[in-house]
Amino acid sequence: MKHPELRVSAGRLARNIAAVRARVAPSELMLVVKDDAYGHGATWASQVAQEAGVAWIGTYDVPTAVHLRAELDDGMRLFAWATSADDEIAAALKNDVDLGVGTAAYLDRVIAAATRLGARARVHLKIDTGLHRNGIAPGDWSQTVSHALQAQARGALSLVGVWSHLAEASDEEDDAAYGLFISAVEIARAHGAQIEHTHLTASAATWERAELRGSLVRVGAFCYGVRSADGPELDGIAPISTLMASVGEVTDSTVSISVGSLDGLPSTLSGRVEVGTPGGARLLTGIGLTSSRVDAWPDARIGDEVFVFGSGTHGERSATSLAETIDSVGEEILTRITSYVARTYTD
Ligand SMILES: *Cc1c(COP(=O)(O)O)cnc(C)c1O
Repeated sequence: MKHPELRVSAGRLARNIAAVRARVAPSELMLVVKDDAYGHGATWASQVAQEAGVAWIGTYDVPTAVHLRAELDDGMRLFAWATSADDEIAAALKNDVDLGVGTAAYLDRVIAAATRLGARARVHLKIDTGLHRNGIAPGDWSQTVSHALQAQARGALSLVGVWSHLAEASDEEDDAAYGLFISAVEIARAHGAQIEHTHLTASAATWERAELRGSLVRVGAFCYGVRSADGPELDGIAPISTLMASVGEVTDSTVSISVGSLDGLPSTLSGRVEVGTPGGARLLTGIGLTSSRVDAWPDARIGDEVFVFGSGTHGERSATSLAETIDSVGEEILTRITSYVARTYTD
C-alpha cells in the first residue's frame, strides 16, 4: 500500500493569509508557526508568508526562530516567546530574534546575556492579563518596566513591544483582560517607553473582535484554515492541507486504506466520520495501526485515493470537523500526524 501523505497547498495558505490581512488592516499579521506550523512545516509556511509580504513570524521557541533566520530575508522580524535557556538567549541576540519576556527573572537573564555579548536585545514585555501562565503581574508591572528602561538606557535592550495572550473563553473575560492590557501600555508610555508594537489577540479574537487588536495580531490556526471547534465557517478561509491515503484491499462491502493510528489518526474517530472517496463521502468504520476500513463504493479499486480530511472536495470533512466529534480541536488532529507521513507541497 502507498504510504499516506499530507498534501499542503501554498496557494491556499497565501489566500488565507490575504483574507486575514484584509480583515485586520491596519493591524499587521504575525504568522504563528509553532508546532511546526501545526504540522505543515514551519520553514515552508514562513517562506510562503514572506512571499506574500508578511513581516512578522512568531515561533514560540528560540531554536526555530534561529533556524528560520537562515532561511528568510534579513528584514523578517522573528518573535520567540518561550522562556529560554541562556545559550538560546545568546543565539537569539546573535540572530536578531525579538524576545517575548514574561517574568522579571527572565528579563534579568536577557539583560545579562545582552550585556555580556555587547548586544541590544529586542524585548516585548508580557503583562499577565488573567491567564496566569506567564506574564508580569499587574502589581509588578511598573517596576519591571522601569527596570527594562534602565537597561535600555545602558544599551542592553530596546523595549519595542507590550503583549499578552487572551483566554478567548468569553467576551467578558477578554474585555477585562483588554482593560489590564491597555493600562499596562499606558504605564509603560508614562515611563517614557517608545512602544512600537502591542499585541494580544490570536485567531478567534483577532477575527471577531476588531476593538481588541493591537498593532500586531498573532494568528496561526485561521491562516492554516483551522477554524475554532464549534465556531463558524470563515469568509475566505479554507483548510490548506489534505490527508491522503490509498486503497489497499477491496471486498464487497469494505475497502481498507493506508492510514492508521500509528500515523497519528485518533482511533476514537472510528465510526464517527466520513472520508472522501471517488464515490463520495463514505463512513470510516474502523481504524487499525497502519490501515483503516471504509464503507465501499461502486467500482472501488486498489490504488484509489481517499481524502481522510481536507477541504471537502470529495466529501471529506475538515480537521476541525473531525475534532468536534471527539471533543478536540483541529490543531490537535493536525499536530498528531506523525513526521513519518510525508508532507508534499503543491501550488
Ligand atoms: C498559539 C498562539 C497563538 C496563535 O494562536 P491561534 O489560535 O493558532 O491563532 C498566538 N499567541 C500565542 C502566545 C500562542 O501561544
